[in-house]
Amino acid sequence: MHDYVIVGAGSAGCVLAARLSEDPSVSVLLIEAGGSDRPNVKIPAAFAKQLKSKRDWDLATEPEPHCDGRSLYMPRGKGLGGSSSMNAMLYVRGHPLDYETWAAGGDQRSGRAGGRRRPDRGQAAAGRKRDGRQNRDCLDAWTSG
Ligand SMILES: Cc1cc2nc3c(=O)[nH]c(=O)nc-3n(C[C@H](O)[C@H](O)[C@H](O)COP(=O)(O)OP(=O)(O)OC[C@H]3O[C@@H](n4cnc5c(N)ncnc54)[C@H](O)[C@@H]3O)c2cc1C
Repeated sequence: MHDYVIVGAGSAGCVLAARLSEDPSVSVLLIEAGGSDRPNVKIPAAFAKQLKSKRDWDLATEPEPHCDGRSLYMPRGKGLGGSSSMNAMLYVRGHPLDYETWAAGGDQRSGRAGGRRRPDRGQAAAGRKRDGRQNRDCLDAWTSG
């Protein structure tokens, strides 16, 4: 018997499981349909090797009327890490107008800095651990905004 059962060990599922299991009194079960990492997962430039492989759910949209009725390929990761195991690791900072529009619609968390929100825990950790050095230049530039 577990306190929490999380279905899907993708980006969200892994973070959720990690945070919940920080409490040693809590039991967490994380279920994943795919397998564990393969070598290509650890090579960012090889992400395209995951496409159409057994690590891909290989989904497709319904025929899209605005795409001349075509059905579009929708890759989704199947395995530990989920789609983050096959993504391109691109990071794009949100446009300030998006945050401001969400705030205008009532989301109090969004508008504060209009695209210059404080980094979350993952971003802060990446800033500290990059290449194993204490390289905080980028993080500091971001937070001093
Ligand atoms: C090809 C590709 C490239 C991308 N490139 C980028 C990028 O460069 N930058 C970026 O920021 N984002 C990128 N993304 C998007 C990003 O990877 C996803 O938005 C993110 O990983 C989604 O996280 P998630 O937890 O919602 O889902 P996923 O990470 O997809 O996790 C879902 C998990 O649930 C599992 N699952 C599903 N059904 C079941 C079931 N019934 N039982 C058990 N397990 C199940 C799946 O196998 C999977 O592991 C890319 C995505 C793809 C597919």
